[in-house]
Amino acid sequence: MDITIAYFHSLHHPDIVKQDFEQIRATGAGSIVYAIHEQEAQRWPRDLERGLRQAQDANLKVHLSLGRYGNLFAGPAFIPSWYTFHHPDSRVMDRHGRYHDISCYNHESFRSWLFKEIEHYLRNFPLNGILFDEPRGPDVTCFCSVCRALCPDVADLQRFRLRSMVDFLGELCACIKRVDAHAKTTVVLLPQELGQVEELAALPHLDTIGGHLFWQLLREDVEIVEQWGRSIVEVTRRHQKRSQLWLQNFNMGNGEEQALESAFKQIVGLEPDEVAGYYYWRNNEDPCRVWQSTRGLLRSIPRRQLHWQKTVWSHRQEGK
Ligand SMILES: [Zn+2]
Repeated sequence: MDITIAYFHSLHHPDIVKQDFEQIRATGAGSIVYAIHEQEAQRWPRDLERGLRQAQDANLKVHLSLGRYGNLFAGPAFIPSWYTFHHPDSRVMDRHGRYHDISCYNHESFRSWLFKEIEHYLRNFPLNGILFDEPRGPDVTCFCSVCRALCPDVADLQRFRLRSMVDFLGELCACIKRVDAHAKTTVVLLPQELGQVEELAALPHLDTIGGHLFWQLLREDVEIVEQWGRSIVEVTRRHQKRSQLWLQNFNMGNGEEQALESAFKQIVGLEPDEVAGYYYWRNNEDPCRVWQSTRGLLRSIPRRQLHWQKTVWSHRQEGK
């Protein structure tokens, strides 16, 4: 079982970043997720390059998440996409002719821009993979001229929207593998989108399917984590894909530690390929305590499970 930690913090101060990565590494984590927003690579490419290099120097693999690109993905900063702002004609249009602030992924210009962005990151920064965080698609059926031309049967547009989202994610993953055959691809879904797992698992260039099992944020009983997680683990196993189950260790009030521990035990009990969580993420009543609890829980994963994965991994490497 591998451990992945989302690091949604500034890379400007190298000494602090170094200490943070050492702490993350000490939990047994092998990877971080860093989320980038469109303007960052333009404004502080040196910080980005140095920060991500620091992660790799600390033996942490780096997975880059494209925060709010085209307003299609989730991202730590709640800011709109520059691309969508500058290309209002790329927006999704609903059946009433109203525009929504999401770029339609069937627009060729949007796709080629996004492919170029990904290629730029893979070629110029130290990365081990790309992660697509909560891709938005089926919640609004698009009636734009491009979608209408691709799917002339109006009654089929809703299903077409979902099909074309899976195609779009498949193409993104294929684009990543063309640029760097060793780069890993991940799509992480919210529980309400778990119906897509089966179709995504059939994508040949997608390596990992994750789930944000955020019971508390979604006002569910903590016991639901097991059910959500199982639906990912079972499908990914059948398709020889990796599973990544996310612990909600943010937005925690005091007194919710027991639920945190319960969610973690349910996740680990499912034996996913990866368990994931956050480093000091938002809105905890006692941020230090939540991180200490997370650290303790991650360290409670039997070492032999972590060791077993490493052995298999090194054998695979030798076999190459
Ligand atoms: Zn459209």
